[in-house]
Amino acid sequence: MATLSTLDLITRLVSFDTTSRESNLALIDFVRDYLDGFDITSELVFDESGRKANLFATIGPEDRSGVILSGHTDVVPVDGQTWTNDPFEVWERDGRLVGRGVADMKSFIAIALAKVPDAIAQIRKTPLHLALTFDEEVGCLGAQKLVPILEQRHPRPRACIIGEPTLMKPIIGHKGKRSLRCHVHGLECHSAMTHVGVNAVEAAAEMVAYLKSLARRFRDEGPFDPDYDPPYTTVHTGHIDGGTAVNIVPKHCLFDFEFRHLPEHDPETILREIHDEAERLSIEMRQVYARAGFDFQMISNITGLATNGDEEIVAMVKQLTGVNGTGKVSFGTEGGVYQHAGIPTVICGPGSIEQAHKPDEWIALEQITACETFLDRLINRIAAE
Ligand SMILES: [Zn+2]
Repeated sequence: MATLSTLDLITRLVSFDTTSRESNLALIDFVRDYLDGFDITSELVFDESGRKANLFATIGPEDRSGVILSGHTDVVPVDGQTWTNDPFEVWERDGRLVGRGVADMKSFIAIALAKVPDAIAQIRKTPLHLALTFDEEVGCLGAQKLVPILEQRHPRPRACIIGEPTLMKPIIGHKGKRSLRCHVHGLECHSAMTHVGVNAVEAAAEMVAYLKSLARRFRDEGPFDPDYDPPYTTVHTGHIDGGTAVNIVPKHCLFDFEFRHLPEHDPETILREIHDEAERLSIEMRQVYARAGFDFQMISNITGLATNGDEEIVAMVKQLTGVNGTGKVSFGTEGGVYQHAGIPTVICGPGSIEQAHKPDEWIALEQITACETFLDRLINRIAAE
């Protein structure tokens, strides 16, 4: 395949409807063919359904430890949003590109792909890896499949840059998140006979109240990190559904809750506390009905990111972007998955998260230029090693 400009590539990538519920294979095939045109081999890692794949490719020697450029290929739905034009057709307006995914985060992937010929021409010793993932927006599922494979590589990639929109500022931390659905199982009966039933709505309410007490405790007692807003782990119930009528003791109730934890606040400990409370509440319920109780189902799981500011990749990204400091952000990324695998990770990409997920999502052309300059410098830098 011939060389394509950044703009051509952004237009092509956006044209694939890779809303998380859809297959991303058309986009992955396009990228694989593009890389094939430069004799770069892609490794695909599929999900269980075979409808989605991660792509991993290496420019430079396979047997050396390189730097990963990582981006997710999926986008959030346009359902219910009012767009000026077709969201999957990029258009330009007032120095901006508009289209679904231009900020989050197909422009970064397109810029990285546009730099492939330069990278091939310059890189000799330290490789540059490209990692494209699926299902980031629904819980970083693709990265969770890809990263264990990278962990087994010898040598393991030495660092990762994720091009989520940060206005090209180096970001070294974000909170982790767990979303869960809780099914409460009770026993139905006439509301005149409450003593022979198990009221699932009341049990759910007690559990929700417990979650609120956890939220207060974290707010008041920490742990705290002043770099985050708010500076503590949050807990919240977002949806509840149960019962039929006021004269029936309800047998079922479900509710969805999440907690967004500081990276240093162990999510497993929080989960254990929640399960312990469910166990405690179940004792009384089971005295009436042995099968009563709580079932928890994980809906999504984002690992927190806390990259040590002393890592080489942090200094490198700061130098290449010309930005002096580092920051932490409130949105989740795949960074925690890489970090968990021992691959130090910095988030740095063009565009702003403010524009992500919205109708008429846009990215400023100057952000695209800034990212091109950054990747030019990165390639120069690793080519000089
Ligand atoms: Zn994103």
